[in-house]
Parts: sequence; structure tokens; C-alpha cells
Amino acid sequence: MKYNSTRDKSCRVSAAHAIAHGLAPDGGLFVPEELPQLSPQQIEALCKTDYRGRAEEILALFLDEFSREEIRAIVTAAYGDNYDDSAIAPLHSIDEKTAVLELWHGPTCAFKDMALQILPHLLTASLKKCGETRKVCILVATSGDTGKAALEGFADVEDTKILVFYPHNGVSDVQRLQMVTQRGGNVSVAAVRGNFDDAQSGVKTLFGDAELSNELLDKGWFLSSANSINWGRLLPQIVYYFSAYCELVNSKYVRIGDDVDFAVPTGNFGDILACWYAKKMGLPVGKLICASNENNVLADFFKTGIYDRNRAFHTTISPSMDILVSSNLERLLYSVCGDDILVAEYMRSLNEKGSYTVGNDIFKVLSDNFVGGFCSDSDTKKTIASVYNKHNYLIDTHTAVAYKLMNEYRNTSASKRTTVVVSTASPFKFCDSVLNALGENIDAKGTELIKKLSERTGVKAPMPLSDLDKREKRFELVINKQEMRQTVTDFLK
Ligand SMILES: *Cc1c(COP(=O)(O)O)cnc(C)c1O
Repeated sequence: MKYNSTRDKSCRVSAAHAIAHGLAPDGGLFVPEELPQLSPQQIEALCKTDYRGRAEEILALFLDEFSREEIRAIVTAAYGDNYDDSAIAPLHSIDEKTAVLELWHGPTCAFKDMALQILPHLLTASLKKCGETRKVCILVATSGDTGKAALEGFADVEDTKILVFYPHNGVSDVQRLQMVTQRGGNVSVAAVRGNFDDAQSGVKTLFGDAELSNELLDKGWFLSSANSINWGRLLPQIVYYFSAYCELVNSKYVRIGDDVDFAVPTGNFGDILACWYAKKMGLPVGKLICASNENNVLADFFKTGIYDRNRAFHTTISPSMDILVSSNLERLLYSVCGDDILVAEYMRSLNEKGSYTVGNDIFKVLSDNFVGGFCSDSDTKKTIASVYNKHNYLIDTHTAVAYKLMNEYRNTSASKRTTVVVSTASPFKFCDSVLNALGENIDAKGTELIKKLSERTGVKAPMPLSDLDKREKRFELVINKQEMRQTVTDFLK
């Protein structure tokens, strides 16, 4: 299978090239030329295997130049006892019509693990297939979750190093502890004085620094990123939609062929886009419920067809969804219209004016398939409390946004379909807001709150979070933005 750029169809590359390079030369995103189709019989076969088996089958459809053995080895390395549940992505049943897909059983307790536990293996294999002989250093600027998931994914992966910059005093206590206690001989972490934008613009400057690139070349290194527009991060996410459906079939909630709705807490549009691709591949999906927090650009877009980022940025209690430009939406537009010139024009308009309006035919397809909506912080907290009180089930602030929008959709549409709420983080990653939602005062910090939430609810904290305060702090470096370059060259000496 070949991959095209969303902004130029004549750009046609292999899967390994798409993964090794991340972004097309014209600034577009790589997308598969056509999507493989699964018959009901093939879906039935997936139901009979486990998560790794499902991942192997689906990845193989997209990665021609990887052998079966290679894919099996990669999948086995990515989804094993690094997960605290052998189902990898277990489905928690709420009632006959509602289930929650738990994507946070990996080492960092957020759904980014589903892709970042496998990406390093896909990336190093892809680089070899492309004839790359230099070693790769991953640079990440993080506001919290991605940095830790990338560190954990790349830790001790051969021929790679990873360096993460986070804003000093700009991440939660738990997030900071997760990063500064990271294991691995090829990892490093530095706090940058400033906010997330300072760290991110600093990293962007380093990527554009030709002199630095030459300096590193001499030492056999090149810089790359692990961000969510890489095809190698999106592809593994398609798997869990098929897997969730199989689990519903296996537990007799649905029969093969019945449509299922998915409610997805959305930021950069990667997670829900994978659901769209699964639907296009033949998975019986009804509506895709695109759930935003008060940063409601996407909610407006699915209502009006106008994408307009010109609005205030809100800091919310679901911070991983605080985003105004959802990069992966570009792939959806291309998938719907197949018109590279039109997509390039929308993206130019987004860049220049901060907005674009899609044509009626595109809008029709979007409205038939997607429902957009948003949820305030106060409704997020109410939802956490009501799900806990009614069903004795604890959800985090991001999952609650999707849960609320599922309820809203059911109330307005009278849909009788089974719905899967996609759960993207362990509630223990966002203890303060979750405790607050349950009516508790927040009188402690960091790991203290983990204990408190556990005591309040009787739910055990995930292992990787519960022993955080006992681990050795390895990285205490705090730097100014101007020192980021030096930090990189020291790291790659
Ligand atoms: C990244 C993230 C999201 C948003 O996912 P996208 O693929 O960016 O839409 C939602 N919840 C959590 C906890 C996340 O870390």
C-alpha cells in the first residue's frame, strides 16, 4: 500500500517512508491511498483472537513492506506485561447499552501509550528500511501526558535517544514526578523556565537549526519528533475500535453487523479519526460523537461546517483536550472529499485567516456520520459524580466529557444503539479534579491525593502511579529557553 500527502496526491510513498518522515514535504499529512476492507467473516475471525492477534491482522493490512514475523514481534513488544490488564484495552460494561473502552492500562496510565508503546519499534524498523544509518534523537515539548508516554515508549530502544522539555511549574505534580523518575539509559528530561509555548517554540527552533543539524550529523545523529500527526501513531489506534466491537460481540451485547456508536473525547482529532477509518474499513459504526471541552472549535465545526480558531483559549480540567487547531482533521477532510487541492486551500485559509468553511457536499457527509458537542467544567464534574454514584464506576475528566455528550445525544436523538465511551486516562492522573467532583476538599498535593482518591473510592491506584514518590528522581535540570540547544548537544556528545 502506498501513502499520499493530503495536499498533493502525486506525492506517493511507502509506509516505511511515511513513518520515518512523519510529515510530507508540502506540509500535508500522509494518508493511505485506499483503505483495506474487512468482511463480516474477517471481523468474526478477529473476535476469536486476542488484542495482539487483532493488532497483527490490522497492521499487516497497512504495512506491506513489513513481514508477518516482523509485525508479530513489534506487536508482542508493544502490548505485553507493560500493560496491567492482559486484555490490553478492556471493555467495562455499564449497562446493556453502554460500555467504556479503557485505554489507560499502559505504563503511563493514558491512552497515548496505545500508540507510543508501538511507535518506537515501527519507527526504528522504518528507518532501517529507508536505508537510514544515523541514529535518531526524539525531541519532545510536552504539557504533560505526551512527554511521559514518549519517554516510556522510547526508553532503552536501540539506536534512539529521547529528550523531553516541559514547562517549569507548568505541569502537575504527578506528571512531573512521572517524568523525572523515568528509567532508561537513553532518556533525559529538562524543565524550561516559561510556559508550554516557550518549550514548544524552543523545540521548533531546534528542528529548524541547520547548523545544529550539521553538527549532529557529524556525530551520527538526526532529530525527529514523535508527535501525533505521524501515521505510525494513528495506525495502532484503529485496532482498538475493532477490538472494542469484538468484545461487544463476544459478550453478546451486539451481533456482527449491528451498528455501534462511539463517543470520543477529542483534542487533536487523532483518536476519533482512527474510529472514522475503522468505519470506512467496514466496522459497523453508527454515529461518531466528537466530544470537546470549552475549547469548542470542533463542536461548532460539526454544527456549521465552519472551522474558526479565532476565539479565546480556555484552560480546563481536561487539559489534554485544550487545543484550538486539531491537526488530524485535515485527514478527515481528505478522506471525505479526496481532493488534495481543496484540502491545501482549506489549510492555507486556516493558516492565513484562522478559519475555513467546507462545501455542502463535505458538510453533508460529516453531518451524516458525526455529532459534535462540548461540555463545561462544571458538567464534567457533575458527570463524574453521577457515574460514580449511579454505577460505582470512576472516570477521569476527559472520559467524563465524552460520557456527558453520549447522554446528550441519546436524549435528543432517541438512538437505541449500543454506545462505547472511549476512556482516555486513569482517574488517578487527575486526582484533584476527580476528588473535587466527588465533593472533597483538595487539601494535599501530588501523590498524597492519589492515596486520598483511593481511600475515598476504594479503587486501587494503578501501580505506575502508586509508587511514584518512592522512585529515584533522576532529572532535576532546570534551564532557560536559550539553553535548550546546549542541552541537546550535551545530551548527544
Ligand atoms: C491526547 C488526549 C486526548 C485527545 O486525543 P486526540 O487524539 O488528541 O483527539 C484525550 N484525552 C486524553 C487523556 C489525552 O491524553
